[in-house]
Amino acid sequence: MYDSNNIFAKILRGEIPAFKVFEDERTLAFMDVMPQSEGHTLVIPKTDARNFFDIDPDALASLIKATQHVAKAVQQAFQPDGMRIIQFNEPAAGQTVFHIHFHIVPCYEGRTLKGHARDMADKAVLAEHAERIKRALAR
Ligand code: AMP
Repeated sequence: MYDSNNIFAKILRGEIPAFKVFEDERTLAFMDVMPQSEGHTLVIPKTDARNFFDIDPDALASLIKATQHVAKAVQQAFQPDGMRIIQFNEPAAGQTVFHIHFHIVPCYEGRTLKGHARDMADKAVLAEHAERIKRALAR
């Protein structure tokens, strides 16, 4: 069920880099490299879970708490007009990475969201966005 070769498991093991914004004992948050909007952030648990159905309920509770914590900082940092908190299960629903995660997607009036997992963002821009969120978390 859970394949530990997925890209988020590799990020957790430090095998590939990420623009991290938040980390605690149970969760990690980092910038989505193919953001649908400015400030698109992902929050993942440190436990092995493919999706909403196999994650331990306590780990899910920690994950959603961390998602709210980070989403508040994204709100402060980017001042979007709205925000989507999204979670996909299985390819039929749009899941492409099989380690459960919540998307934090800021929405701006008059700007259409970009396609899901489509265009790679500039690394310098992602780094700057991560810094903005970290500063908001430190306030
Ligand atoms: P999902 O389709 O819900 O599984 O979402 C996976 C998300 O991970 C997509 O929005 C991708 O843009 C994003 N993504 C894929 N690879 C990476 C990566 N190495 N670092 C950060 N985000 C990634």
